[in-house]
Amino acid sequence: MYDTLTGRYTFSCPARGEAKVRLSAFRTLERLPGTAHPVVFRVRFACACGGEHDGLVSHDELDWAPLVPPEGSFLNLMTDRLEAVAVELADLAALRIRGGEWPWSFFCYPEERSRPIFPSAFRLLAPGTGGSVGVAVRCPVCSGVSVNLVSPEHVDLPFHNDREVGVVEHVFPEDAERAVEAFRAELDGAAFDARRLALE
Ligand SMILES: [Zn+2]
Ligand SMILES: [Zn+2]
Repeated sequence: MYDTLTGRYTFSCPARGEAKVRLSAFRTLERLPGTAHPVVFRVRFACACGGEHDGLVSHDELDWAPLVPPEGSFLNLMTDRLEAVAVELADLAALRIRGGEWPWSFFCYPEERSRPIFPSAFRLLAPGTGGSVGVAVRCPVCSGVSVNLVSPEHVDLPFHNDREVGVVEHVFPEDAERAVEAFRAELDGAAFDARRLALE
C-alpha cells in the first residue's frame, strides 16, 4: 500500500478507481477503536479527483514503511513481512535519533520544545499559506495537541526536518470535532510564530 519509490500510499477512489497520495495529502488520522494486531488508522485524504475519501492504513505502513530504503535488503520484505522488520527499523531509527536525526519532528507548544514523532502522531493536516502544510500533532510525551505550519517535505520525507516551523500559540482541544474547527479557524487566521526545531 505504501510505495517507497514514489513515497505514496495507494487507496481506492470512487471516481478513478485508485488514488496514490503522499502523507501531506492526508487530512485526518484516527485510530480505529478495537484494533490491536495490527493497529489500524482510518485516514481521510485529499484525492487528485478533487474529492476527499476515507482509507485504512496499518500502523506499520504509516510509521515504518516510509523508513524502508527504496533500494536494499528490506525491499523484498515490504509486502508481507513489514511487521517483522519493524522492530529492526525501530532500532535503526532510534540510532539515528540518538545521533541527532529525527525521522519526523514537531514543536510542542505546551512544552515549548521540539519532539520527535512518527506519522501516527499526526491528527489533522490541511494546506496552509504559500504551499505550506498545517499539521495538528498530538504529543507522544505530554499528549497536548499543537499546530505547526511546515513544508510538505517535512511531512512527506523521513529525516527531512524543517529548520524552522510556524507554531500557533495555544493548546488545541483534544476531542476531534472541536479540534477540526479550531484547526481550520487557526489556519485561516494564520497567527503563527516561528520556532526552531532543534535537539535539546
Ligand atoms: Zn478520488
Ligand atoms: Zn509535548
